[in-house]
Amino acid sequence: MRTVLFWFRRDFRLTDNVGLQRAVESGARVVPVYVLSDWKDEHGWTGPKRQHFLCGCIESLSRNLETLGSRLIIRSGKAVSELMKLAEEVKAEAIYFNRDPDPFGKQVEAQLAAQCESAGLRCESHKDAVLHESAEVLTGTGGPYRVYTPYSKNWLALEKQKPQGKVKSLGPAAETAVTSLPVPTLAHWGWTLPEGVKLPEPGERAARERMKQFVEGPRIGLYGQQRDVPSIHGTSTISPDLRFGLISIRELYWRVKERALADAPVADGALKYVKELAWREFYMALLHFYPEVLERDFNPDYAAVEWPGREGAFERWAEGRTGFPIVDSGMRQLVQTGWMHNRVRMIVAMFLTKDLHFHWKVGEQFFHQHLIDAEIACNNGGWQWSAGTGADAAPYFRIQNPWSQTKRYDPEGIYIRKWLPELREVSPARLLEPPAPGLALVSGYPAPMVDHTQERDRTMARFAAGKGKR
Ligand code: FAD
Repeated sequence: MRTVLFWFRRDFRLTDNVGLQRAVESGARVVPVYVLSDWKDEHGWTGPKRQHFLCGCIESLSRNLETLGSRLIIRSGKAVSELMKLAEEVKAEAIYFNRDPDPFGKQVEAQLAAQCESAGLRCESHKDAVLHESAEVLTGTGGPYRVYTPYSKNWLALEKQKPQGKVKSLGPAAETAVTSLPVPTLAHWGWTLPEGVKLPEPGERAARERMKQFVEGPRIGLYGQQRDVPSIHGTSTISPDLRFGLISIRELYWRVKERALADAPVADGALKYVKELAWREFYMALLHFYPEVLERDFNPDYAAVEWPGREGAFERWAEGRTGFPIVDSGMRQLVQTGWMHNRVRMIVAMFLTKDLHFHWKVGEQFFHQHLIDAEIACNNGGWQWSAGTGADAAPYFRIQNPWSQTKRYDPEGIYIRKWLPELREVSPARLLEPPAPGLALVSGYPAPMVDHTQERDRTMARFAAGKGKR
């Protein structure tokens, strides 16, 4: 019996999974494998919520494979050596996988390709996580875009691949002699889920239901009007599903497009939504062409700007105790659910970088440890945008005022009072202005830790002093 491996990575689904489909089409038996990474020895860019969601995705994938008569082989360690070992055990002739847009993933892919070559194994990688890979969307002179708007025009105009269905069989399961670790739990990393944390249901079935609810329901038509209002469930909330590949980006795109074609009133909302999907790939392209953004500012003009970070302030920001209700509610939403509304992500990120003067890297890492949708490219892009150092950056002097943002996007204080129970009895009007200096809104809730106007002036001075000096 001919055998090939399919290496699951960030694509925990059986529907429209390009690499898996190709492996099945090879006519060989497909042995599916997932390698638990040894990241804990290498970096701190994840946390219990994200790993818990991951465990749920592995569990659901494993069950789905069993219903097809297959068996997910789970190993742990360095992906390349584990894959090579397994390939030898099952006498695989090839290893199939989907390409990862991240620099770390790409490094591993290159190492695997080299090992396969010396071992005489075929190594097949496929485009799956995106509609257009970075090298497919280039300027007229063949270079990368640095600005979103022209990128998105080009991206929108390109032909989009159609989704395929679900694989029906992978052939017989690996022999029982082929060992597998059990589906991991958080204990694998020595963690437990903090009390009170409530995460969305992981797995392909739950993700498909979320996609259906959004694409077939009223939210998509209202997306343009509602997407900035954090108290409304107005966005698709499928970023974790895209991050873990529980749904296919092709299927999502075509379902949105077909709904818009069939139902003219939703067309505007649908287009706005598709443009957000282009943001995701724009940031992936930036990371691909400028991998140095993980270490330094995208815009070199601000490389000499100082980020002194107010002493003791980071902890208060992280715990949602700044005394700025909109900031604190966002941070509590993040810590309790592993997700935060986009508008509020911008507010809290600007607050950390412009009111508390921390370097964007500090917030970027915290988000990575708490977001279940943490996506290296989008997170870096979002932080650099908010800090004023990124692509399409809001000019550094356009600093959002958390109070005005509250007036505009949560005027009734619905979002704030949901996440800050201690403010439930406070009238909405009092949440829109800072209380008199030194006074708290209610006892037990801190007074604003800084004066926004003063900190704004400090940031302007920091940027003016550092601008253009390298
Ligand atoms: P929707 O509004 O329904 O959008 C649909 C999809 O489009 C999203 O799931 C996402 O894949 C993509 N998208 C939407 N907005 C953006 C955007 N501004 N940039 C890139 N892609 C976008 N998104 C992540 O997926 N992972 C991250 O780690 C991440 N970190 C961020 C950090 C900061 C500081 C900021 C300001 C934004 C960040 N974003 C990140 C972008 C955005 O906040 C989330 O994609 C969005 O809130 C996810 O919710 P949703 O699925 O309901 O989005």
